[in-house]
Amino acid sequence: MKESSKFIRTQTQRSSQREHSVPLYLTSSFMFDDAEHGRAMFTEEVQGNIYSRYSNPNTSEFIQKVCDSEGAEAGLAFSSGMAAVFASFAGLLKSGDHIVAFRSIFGSTHQLFTQLLPRWGITTTYVDASKPEDFEKALRPETKMVFLETPSNPGLELVDLEWLGGLKKKHNFILNVDNCFATPYLQKPIEYGADLVSHSSTKYMDGQGRVLGGVVVGRQDLIKEMMFFIRHTGPAMSAFNAWIFSKSLETLPVRMDRHCSNALSVAEALEQHEDVEVVRYPFLPSHPQYELAKRQMKQGGGVVTFILKGGMERAMRFLDALEMISLSSNLGDTRTIATHPVSTTHSKLTDDERAQIGIFPGSIRVSVGLEDVNDIVKDLTTALDRSK
Ligand SMILES: *Cc1c(COP(=O)(O)O)cnc(C)c1O
Repeated sequence: MKESSKFIRTQTQRSSQREHSVPLYLTSSFMFDDAEHGRAMFTEEVQGNIYSRYSNPNTSEFIQKVCDSEGAEAGLAFSSGMAAVFASFAGLLKSGDHIVAFRSIFGSTHQLFTQLLPRWGITTTYVDASKPEDFEKALRPETKMVFLETPSNPGLELVDLEWLGGLKKKHNFILNVDNCFATPYLQKPIEYGADLVSHSSTKYMDGQGRVLGGVVVGRQDLIKEMMFFIRHTGPAMSAFNAWIFSKSLETLPVRMDRHCSNALSVAEALEQHEDVEVVRYPFLPSHPQYELAKRQMKQGGGVVTFILKGGMERAMRFLDALEMISLSSNLGDTRTIATHPVSTTHSKLTDDERAQIGIFPGSIRVSVGLEDVNDIVKDLTTALDRSK
């Protein structure tokens, strides 16, 4: 099957209404045919839906589509991206276990590593993506998991998945990749040896800024172990959100093509502007990991990060001078969004921690939307000129 067709999965089960699109199953529980059926469902001799905290036809459809597109054996859906990321740690690790993580990661994931997981005796060592030679030094006998984002938010640093997949053959760890920025349409970490892939489906999977959700897919045995955690702690995705996500996935390839071509044009235009110090975009030849990006990703993604001359004050003036582009902390929407990481998403980090992952007072993250690219570029360049 061709790549983009995998996102549009033919529905195999229909009700007597012969619907073309999967209906919304707003039901908290499912009935047993008789007492014996209920018993057999609970011992898992018979498979099926019992209760929507465990599974629901809408969440199952969504999970199946993500598994098909990532090339995964099994998966679980969550109420948010952070619930998914957290479950991939809490469902598999125990006190005394160690994680090696690449430093450039989502703000809340950083809070998990530094503030929350240590409460339960799970520790993390950071490695810089720019110094992969430090990676093996960070591994310990108790290292159970390696976690990373590629490209990272918002620095757009990449980690070489093929290299890491090779190291996995030598060391025994669970390779857990947050593939939120790339989506399975642009990059498939499982092909390189990742054991788990997580997503905030809030971003490109919905792509229309409507609902929160998360998903983890990967090795059957790991997903089964995580299932125990989610069944008994309850971070499951709602049927309504799953129904939205399933439909949204059908347009993911079309949307990503447009996000990526718009983002590349925006990156090229910003690079020409005299008040822009640096532009980061994986598919710009000036990106330090351009060759890797070309190898590992089909296109460069929908996010462009740049550093404005004039620091924090200029950045604030620039944001206020935008007219069409929204100010929001979200990304992966149809509409273009500009974010100032230092004062919002990464405000909890120290200056030092931010500098280590390439965030400076003049940094702006642009989640490039689906508008006409000329309108996006014009809004950005006009705001640059007005905020001098
Ligand atoms: C947004 C995001 C998350 C968290 O997802 P939520 O749905 O907001 O909980 C995790 N990782 C990355 C890379 C993200 O961009």
